[in-house]
Amino acid sequence: MGEFISLTEARARGLPRYFTGKPCKHGHISERFVGDTHCVTCKLARNKKFYENNREQQQASQRDYNRRNSEKRAIASVKYRKAHPEVSAAASRRYRAKNPHFAKYTRDLSRARGLGCIPKWFGELDELAFTEAIDLFKRRTKMTGIAWEIDHIVPMKSKWVCGFHTWFNIRVIPQKINRSKHNRPELLGPLDWIPLI
Ligand SMILES: [Zn+2]
Repeated sequence: MGEFISLTEARARGLPRYFTGKPCKHGHISERFVGDTHCVTCKLARNKKFYENNREQQQASQRDYNRRNSEKRAIASVKYRKAHPEVSAAASRRYRAKNPHFAKYTRDLSRARGLGCIPKWFGELDELAFTEAIDLFKRRTKMTGIAWEIDHIVPMKSKWVCGFHTWFNIRVIPQKINRSKHNRPELLGPLDWIPLI
């Protein structure tokens, strides 16, 4: 527990809490709030209990708050980025450098959008599959020492077909195969890839 500090002193120094070392009526030797002199431990427990008893209501009001404010935040963020293009460009460069996979994911997504390969029902399952696939190729790259990539089984752009950018049309294969003429849908597993690596 912290050092002793009286209510008067804490108030004089503008601190939010003080500590006398004396137990509260529930036996907590805890800091107290300068504002109402209540025991901090008691108050946290009360808040927790209140939250638990009103969980649904609390969550609903939190969701409501987020909904109302996400629009405000988005507008503020667009305004800020317009006013400070250099800050914004540097931040997005930093973000891309730190998260090359995510950057590639968004590039792929916009390429797919351009090619008309994203169906109307593209949704959570697809996003989950891409996230998992990114995780998988990172792990495989680390484990095997060769680069892996996400591949569209049916290509998004080819002479004859247009494959969807969706969960059922992707797989993780060695980069070397993905970028060579060997990249064919019938190469399904390691036994097919290994001789070609
Ligand atoms: Zn207490």
